[in-house]
Amino acid sequence: MWIFSPLMTTENAPTDPTYRLRAAASGREAIAPVREGVVYRDAETGEELEPVAAVLPQDGVGSALPRTPVNLRVCRRCEQLTPRDLATCEFCGLPAA
Ligand SMILES: [Zn+2]
Repeated sequence: MWIFSPLMTTENAPTDPTYRLRAAASGREAIAPVREGVVYRDAETGEELEPVAAVLPQDGVGSALPRTPVNLRVCRRCEQLTPRDLATCEFCGLPAA
């Protein structure tokens, strides 16, 4: 089960390393940039989320954001879901604005 918490949005671009976080009791998960010394909690249950795996760095091509609903927009030409942090649609190349 994936939780799309407001931990990461286009406003808080990832400068911190990104981790897969998990709540021990329920197994609910999220992907978010993690800063040392900060306690992360599930947006719905309030359980503490603990880092369980680091997300591999990307090759610098394409979106730096996790592919979650808050980070996607619908392209007005091809109607595909494309990352918000890219200047053009990743499918048809139409500029975002
Ligand atoms: Zn498109």
